[in-house]
Amino acid sequence: MSGATTPCVHCGATVPTPEAFMDAEGAVCADCNASAEMGESFAKAYKSLAIGTLSSALVSFCFNPFLVFTIMSFASGFATLSYPGRLDPEDRQALQTLQWPVPLALVSMVLAVAAAGMRLLPLMAR
Ligand SMILES: [Zn+2]
Repeated sequence: MSGATTPCVHCGATVPTPEAFMDAEGAVCADCNASAEMGESFAKAYKSLAIGTLSSALVSFCFNPFLVFTIMSFASGFATLSYPGRLDPEDRQALQTLQWPVPLALVSMVLAVAAAGMRLLPLMAR
């Protein structure tokens, strides 16, 4: 029995049909399937860093003892901005369609500074 084969929609490799994985675009080989899963987890980490930056910034408006949430927001913000640079170039490609984490992190850091300013300005005006 020769067995049916399917070309991988991503890399074109010939895969025996029973071993092919299916994704939204069609049949993919095991390698492409694995790298797609890696890409998803990198994208998830990138998004949660940006969302963490925003949530710390929002908390810092209500509750910010010793500016700890401003500092946390900055820490996540810088982690978001540097995240793609810390990945291998092939892994970084998984983040190319994600355009919002960087602007969200930047806006959140501005909010965190504004929250810190609201705390500090009345003290300085005394
Ligand atoms: Zn493939």
